[in-house]
Amino acid sequence: MIQLKHIVYGLLGVVLASACPRATAADSNPPIRALVVVGGHGFDTNQFYATLRGLPGVSVDIYEHPKAQAQWEAGQAGRYDVMVLYDFYQKIDEAAKANFVKWLKDGRGLVCTHHAMANYQAWPEYENIIGARYYLKKTLVNGVEKPLSTWKHDVMVPVKIADADHPVTRGLKDFEIHDETYGLYDVRPDNHWLLTTTEKTSHEKIGWTRSYEGARVVYLELGHDHLAYANEHYQKLLGQAIRWAAKK
Ligand SMILES: [Zn+2]
Repeated sequence: MIQLKHIVYGLLGVVLASACPRATAADSNPPIRALVVVGGHGFDTNQFYATLRGLPGVSVDIYEHPKAQAQWEAGQAGRYDVMVLYDFYQKIDEAAKANFVKWLKDGRGLVCTHHAMANYQAWPEYENIIGARYYLKKTLVNGVEKPLSTWKHDVMVPVKIADADHPVTRGLKDFEIHDETYGLYDVRPDNHWLLTTTEKTSHEKIGWTRSYEGARVVYLELGHDHLAYANEHYQKLLGQAIRWAAKK
């Protein structure tokens, strides 16, 4: 019996020894913690959440408006490396604006996607943060009336990689995606362009990075529905955008 006990303990030691290096490696490479904000616009919920949860090395918490903005508060924000916006929302009070800006000043990243371009139309700083402005209504800008921005579903969009050396686009070549296009929005000239298209119903610039108060910001226009989520290039872009914005 004593001998048997020694054998069992010996085997246990071998099992623990072989398990420990894996545990150590996992601890030294914890997943990127992403806060995902949704709400205010319909989408293929299950497929989108499955796509997010399938991104390698990313752990996601998903919050829907009106509860999402509470996650920007000081006591909550520390749990995250990066925020992913897939919402379509206008309501934001002064405290939430301050928390959003502080999120970025603290160096946390932002990945804004698809219809989140049209968020917070009455808050000019949002345009400074994401580097674009979508017009949901006719708007006077420097005395010039801007036309309504446009959208079109079910377009086969040719996507060109404008900077193949950037970490967000690394490993990607030009591709096509079945998606929705947006047009007639304004973009900031100081954006760093990652993705463009020649599709006529779309703005030419459809993906970029920028810096805001030391934070890394990415905008990706792609991602209308399950057909876009299923596109491997979209998944790679989204995963690499989250990693880069999180400074990981
Ligand atoms: Zn859409």
